[in-house]
Amino acid sequence: MTLAPSDVVVIGGGAIGTAVAYSLARAGRSVTLVERRGVGQEASGANVGLVTLFSGHSFDEPDPGPIYELTRASADAYLALGDEVGIDIEYERCGGVVLAESEDKLRLIRRAADGYRRHGVPVEMLDAAGVRDCEPAFHHDGIVGGAFCPLNGQLNPLLLCRALAQGARRHGVRMLLGTTVHAIACEGGRVRAVRTSAGDLACELVVNAAGAWAAEIGALAGVKVPVKPARGQIMLTEPAPRFIHRVISGAEPSARQTRRGNVIVGGTVEDVGFDKRVAAPTVTEFARGALERFPRLRGLGVIRTWAGLRPASPDHKPIIQLLDEPAGLCLATGHSRRGICYAAGTGRLVTDLLTGRAPFLALETFGLGRFANTEEGA
Ligand SMILES: Cc1cc2nc3c(=O)[nH]c(=O)nc-3n(C[C@H](O)[C@H](O)[C@H](O)COP(=O)(O)OP(=O)(O)OC[C@H]3O[C@@H](n4cnc5c(N)ncnc54)[C@H](O)[C@@H]3O)c2cc1C
Repeated sequence: MTLAPSDVVVIGGGAIGTAVAYSLARAGRSVTLVERRGVGQEASGANVGLVTLFSGHSFDEPDPGPIYELTRASADAYLALGDEVGIDIEYERCGGVVLAESEDKLRLIRRAADGYRRHGVPVEMLDAAGVRDCEPAFHHDGIVGGAFCPLNGQLNPLLLCRALAQGARRHGVRMLLGTTVHAIACEGGRVRAVRTSAGDLACELVVNAAGAWAAEIGALAGVKVPVKPARGQIMLTEPAPRFIHRVISGAEPSARQTRRGNVIVGGTVEDVGFDKRVAAPTVTEFARGALERFPRLRGLGVIRTWAGLRPASPDHKPIIQLLDEPAGLCLATGHSRRGICYAAGTGRLVTDLLTGRAPFLALETFGLGRFANTEEGA
């Protein structure tokens, strides 16, 4: 069967694919999104939902650069998204604490905090007592200090995906859910069509936003995409009156309390291929860790556990690039542990690339070229 053609086919209906589709449609491109399950059914619906502007990633980029810009663009877009599409994504900038369990780590945090402050990003250094005052629910033994960023926050990732998909639909995106991509047809060095379980789709441009499966999709077009799955297990408690007020990062496991009062505790980082099973010993272990850090969890029942597959790139940074070979194939994957932090910004950057606009941030950080002389890039 042959389906009506589109300018762009986006493969994947997670946070990245829906953000890309929404942004491209707003820029006037005709877009079809192909998703083999449903919107947000993989990593994008299975994560903790932290959106942190200052966190572990800041240690690598102490003078805020492209990674910060990508996060900032996303976080700012989330402030407006609810009103744009009429879905509350429960985004709140409740502020977050980045913790240090050693003096070395504290030095890294201080270096990054100084750099961020020089660029006008509010980050305040805390001693151990300051950390305790900032989040009294957190048990502070062994914590030597940290930093507080009022811009760090949290959202409901399933609602984020739903809102992005809703925005995309309203701007005319055709959503083919329950539809699997089987092949990418290339001719004369460029992409021409995508073969799906619902039929063939002629197109000029294809966006690979297939998350942990991006390497499989890349292989369909003869491109090596260095992304592999990294399993993360999570658990959810029954609701309780709010006692965790900040987003905590830098000490595992991380936890946040949803608007309804449930506590999400997560997540492991495991190299087990595409195995999405929840393993009782690991869950028990991180439940124990969570109890030590958040004693108020004691007595709360666990009502659900699940696992998701992060799309892990070798350096944990996204891969966003419009390729020359085959021409017309754009990569938007490898968002690793921070795909929610980067989704809307990725949509904007991919739109810049596919519409010929000047990219809103430096592209080198995100290109495949950075792996050229590494084992993964060979
Ligand atoms: C436990 C855990 C905690 C996390 N916590 C956070 C956090 O707090 N903050 C944060 O920013 N990030 C977090 N992340 C990371 C974040 O979830 C991911 O980076 C992000 O969801 C990746 O989005 P994606 O759209 O690339 O992938 P996915 O959401 O996995 O979407 C890819 C989609 O492609 C589809 N697909 C694959 N192959 C095909 C095919 N052949 N045809 C059609 N469709 C196909 C899949 O069905 C899937 O829906 C966490 C992840 C985990 C697992």
